[in-house]
Amino acid sequence: MTPPEQKSLLIKGGHLIDPASKIDAPMDILLRDGRVAEIAAPNKIRAGGDEKFDARGLIVAPGFIDLHVHLREPGQGYKETIATGTAAAAAGGFTSVCTMPNTAPVVDSADWVEWLRSPERKALVNVFPIAAATRASRGTTLTDFAALRRAGAVAVTDDGKPILQDEIMRSALQLGAELNFPVVQHAEDTRLTENCPMHAGPTSFRLGLRGQPASAEAAIVDRDVSLAQQIHESRLHVAHLSTSDALRAVRRGKRARARVSCEVTPHHFTLIDENVGDYDTNFKMNPPLRSAADREAILVALADGTVDAIATDHAPHAAHEKQVEFERASFGITGLETALALAITKLHREHRIPLARIVELFTSGPAHVFDLRGRGSLAKGNHADVTIFDPKKRWTFEAARSRSLSRNSPFDAWQLMGKVVATIVGGRVVYRAD
Ligand SMILES: [Zn+2]
Repeated sequence: MTPPEQKSLLIKGGHLIDPASKIDAPMDILLRDGRVAEIAAPNKIRAGGDEKFDARGLIVAPGFIDLHVHLREPGQGYKETIATGTAAAAAGGFTSVCTMPNTAPVVDSADWVEWLRSPERKALVNVFPIAAATRASRGTTLTDFAALRRAGAVAVTDDGKPILQDEIMRSALQLGAELNFPVVQHAEDTRLTENCPMHAGPTSFRLGLRGQPASAEAAIVDRDVSLAQQIHESRLHVAHLSTSDALRAVRRGKRARARVSCEVTPHHFTLIDENVGDYDTNFKMNPPLRSAADREAILVALADGTVDAIATDHAPHAAHEKQVEFERASFGITGLETALALAITKLHREHRIPLARIVELFTSGPAHVFDLRGRGSLAKGNHADVTIFDPKKRWTFEAARSRSLSRNSPFDAWQLMGKVVATIVGGRVVYRAD
């Protein structure tokens, strides 16, 4: 989306972590004309650079990629716009975001994919639309995958809802296989979750709320993995995976060398159902916060490589949609500005997951899931998308100061460790911490 930048930018003195290139060392980087021009040991780059960025004491990483955001346009600009959502993305260190099609109307045509990518949307970071897998996401008739892909969609999904019917899911994976196009599943057997605002467990029992069983997720993932194993070259991506049983199915598929991938959200590795407290609607999302055992399984899978990406499922809602009874409140929370800090605070500091693995989950991991070529790594010639952060900086997230139009975060006033210092898209600094 960013026009080629004529100026060059030299990032000096930082510590580069680029898992795809197997680099974890002090390096200088020269960006020119929207691309990575040179990477070298400290003080070895001869060209001066029109501008310099002093990255001493900071981590320099490939630009972060979020596979799952809801930017609410078209149709729900009162919650978020592409301009405000991508401003929040930039503040969170994301240089690319993949947008979900469950808007009003649903993004199920090439025209809407093009509309999302138009410069008139004033996106601050790269926007990669994910289009609907079925018409109006009704789950009955497949969309024109080939036309959607030509228009720039990177995958298809009916997110917000599952593709429930076996035959439709089979056809979607089949068509996806022919076109080398990933199908993203919102894994929820909605026959088991109707009117269930949270996870089924001791907390839903205490609060007197109907609970979604963990099996509602696992049942769909289980079926989908079996289909992916049967359909040669099909590509299945499991969105916001949240349960231990679903992980088991993903592991089965990966072991069988099926092209199965999955993403996990920061809230599912940070929080559990108990955190809903006394009907706090900022802790209501779908899939819901799960049990402590599910979170434990997710932490293991993040560490051992089973999980391919951390994705936020950034889901902004207006105050009036959250300040209502728990059962009536909208599902979803914002997440772009807290993702990295939660990963560093929870995964790195508390659970000792190496920083390089965390960077992988934000960069080459997601780039690989949707084939975002030239991104997710800072190899020479790649797009000049860079995220610079301070892993030791303590700060307090204030939802009221968010760049998002919405404020529905469970992490308001949380003290966190690790902060984005600068976000660079196509060689241009689009965010700089004050
Ligand atoms: Zn979803």
